[in-house]
Amino acid sequence: MRAEASRAASFELSEEQRAIGDVARESAQREIAPYIAEWDRSHVFPRALYGKLTAAGLMGMLVPEEYGGVAADYVAYALAIEELGKVDAGTAVTVSVHSMICHAIAKLGSDAQKDRWLERLATGDVIAGFGLTEPDAGSDAASIRGSARRDGDAYVLNGRKQWCTNGGFAGVVMAMFRTGGSGAKGISAFLVDSALSGVVVEKTTEKLGIHTSNTVDLAFDDVRVPASARLGAEGEGLTQALATLTAGRIGIAAQAIGILAACLDASVTFAKDRVAFGKPIGSFEAISFKIAQMATDLDAARLLTYRAAALAAAGRPYAVEASKAKLFASTKAREHASEAVQIHGGYGYTTEFPVERYYRDAKITEIYEGTSEIQQIVIARSLLGRL
Ligand SMILES: Cc1cc2nc3c(=O)[nH]c(=O)nc-3n(C[C@H](O)[C@H](O)[C@H](O)COP(=O)(O)OP(=O)(O)OC[C@H]3O[C@@H](n4cnc5c(N)ncnc54)[C@H](O)[C@@H]3O)c2cc1C
Repeated sequence: MRAEASRAASFELSEEQRAIGDVARESAQREIAPYIAEWDRSHVFPRALYGKLTAAGLMGMLVPEEYGGVAADYVAYALAIEELGKVDAGTAVTVSVHSMICHAIAKLGSDAQKDRWLERLATGDVIAGFGLTEPDAGSDAASIRGSARRDGDAYVLNGRKQWCTNGGFAGVVMAMFRTGGSGAKGISAFLVDSALSGVVVEKTTEKLGIHTSNTVDLAFDDVRVPASARLGAEGEGLTQALATLTAGRIGIAAQAIGILAACLDASVTFAKDRVAFGKPIGSFEAISFKIAQMATDLDAARLLTYRAAALAAAGRPYAVEASKAKLFASTKAREHASEAVQIHGGYGYTTEFPVERYYRDAKITEIYEGTSEIQQIVIARSLLGRL
């Protein structure tokens, strides 16, 4: 029987938060677990899965109820992403990126933008993507070059967005372009309908892990969008993008927690089953102490993440807490995924056990939505200011 050592034992959760986590766990077990090894092997983006997750309310978690969403609070949302991430980190990031755009539209969008997109996002008819990174601008997002030229009541977009998660399947992409001037103040955000002429999927990126997540380069060649597609005012785009990423960091921390939890369950099961020198390997301190550390770091990552999520849910500042949560959860997911492979010995390096997938999947959590170094900059600046 599968060990569930990773279940959060004693954290005060409301009934609603627990219920959303339970729905995500059951959905992941039923709709993903039986297929994930094959999807991972063949790099499948399981588009039909998102219809099933919609039925469980998981695509509309951060959509207000009046638009058909669940309006889950951030703690419930983190629990759900964690449960998805425990079974498949690729699915977790698909839902996380989609949800952070839902959140951005609900928070920053005009009534017309909400009417146009939110219900379709909640029903999973439309999946959302986020386009900030360009070939020459990642961490230094203020240096993006993609341009939005005003032309009457429209803008004409030109540029290339790199590694856009969900981009090959997204119906709407929140994308940032330069509307005038250099630096951060010259950037505006747009909700781009991907069916528009000139939006082209240039390349699907092959990756080390998260094979069920779709990652593409999107070209924007003379894409004409109505001025009403602009999110907020001209020049606010980078601020909006960074606020969206701050919320997204809770999702990535939760994704990392899911990977860590899966590593713990797999390690506990294996350490009890595998016999060496006449004893289960879990009887050796070299193994059991690794597992004890894994369980402790899992709880610490959860507490940091739930704190950031609870602050977000209460409408209080949470940027530094979200950075700490992502920094810690992603570092520990990567470290313990390696330990989980080690505990499994040679079997851990084979595709017969899922820990090799956890090992491949964990690394990205230290890179996207702000690298670990960028999280350290956010945290350090909160203490030292800009020296
Ligand atoms: C699978 C995948 C999915 C992605 N999905 C999306 C998406 O949906 N939308 C999107 O817009 N982007 C996406 N990205 C891009 C991702 O957010 C960037 O890769 C990330 O922000 C880092 O940018 P970069 O790769 O350009 O690295 P760089 O910014 O070039 O950084 C390279 C290295 O230098 C370090 N570094 C940079 N600046 C500093 C500094 N000031 N101090 C210290 N160290 C520094 C970084 O931490 C890193 O270690 C995705 C990337 C991947 C791989």
